[in-house]
Amino acid sequence: MRAMVMQTAGRQLEPSEVPDPEPREGEVLVRVRSCGVCRTDLHIVDGELAEPKLPLIPGHQIVGEVADPGGARFAAGERVGIPWLGWTCGECRYCLAGRENLCLRAEFTGYTRDGGYAELAVADERYCFPLRGHTDDSHTAPLLCAGLIGYRALRFCGDAQRLGLYGFGGSAHIVCQVAAHQGRRVFAVTRGGEEAGAFARGLGAEWAGGADSLPEELDAAIVFAPVGELVVAALRALAPGGVVVCAGIHMSDIPSFPYELLWRERAIRSVANLTRADGEELLAVAAEAGVRTAVTVYPLADANVALDDLRAGRVEGAAVLAIETG
Ligand SMILES: [Zn+2]
Ligand SMILES: [Zn+2]
Repeated sequence: MRAMVMQTAGRQLEPSEVPDPEPREGEVLVRVRSCGVCRTDLHIVDGELAEPKLPLIPGHQIVGEVADPGGARFAAGERVGIPWLGWTCGECRYCLAGRENLCLRAEFTGYTRDGGYAELAVADERYCFPLRGHTDDSHTAPLLCAGLIGYRALRFCGDAQRLGLYGFGGSAHIVCQVAAHQGRRVFAVTRGGEEAGAFARGLGAEWAGGADSLPEELDAAIVFAPVGELVVAALRALAPGGVVVCAGIHMSDIPSFPYELLWRERAIRSVANLTRADGEELLAVAAEAGVRTAVTVYPLADANVALDDLRAGRVEGAAVLAIETG
């Protein structure tokens, strides 16, 4: 099959012909239709995340069709989604406590297992999602990480009414729609000028602009951009009792700040990975809220271009690879 392969960190992915993956017991073989390009892929390709499988096929927002069902969960031809969480042990203290996102031995699609920048992928059937009600491949792919991690971050905002989104990319543009549907007031903090602001307002944000010009204080903020300074900026904007949720897997250092900014029960927390329950919930909520993702579609062979565009902030919404069948 054709695949875009990472041989080592810090280099371009190589267009390659590799053997078709062979599903093991309990795994489905999936013909990939679409695979979202996530900022985490950039961190992996750039060598900012330690010890990826090498060589590696990146990509963890996979929409495809079951070619070989393997076990009993899916039928041949059924559309499925394969997310970042690829496998958990089921035995560690986190798995036993319903926090499989923190599993000590977890495996991750497109990081410690091969992912979806390819014509075929295999996945443990227990970690795949049925995609009933989400019929468009390219528009569904970004839900599988950008949407899902964003939704987990949104849950940690509790009942916050005034929600700030710092960095308005693939994840925020989905969370914005869900939050607005829930009746929250969304404030989009962007560096992108009028165009980015109009994009955010078109998806339900009440206000969009720079961090220094927020019109009122926030009850919660989600930081999507991997920029430590934004954590302090968001903390500065919080009302007492508010929370800053960091949604990325990697971020530059957070500068020191006066304790006064944290005082009055403000909190900073991160979200890590996902649970299968998060995925099922987000897919249902996105359908109910009528979430429409904005996507820029690239052919598989242009994965490096997609990554460069994401790095440079040139993508409005989410970048997605479409795998044409050949
Ligand atoms: Zn575990
Ligand atoms: Zn991701």
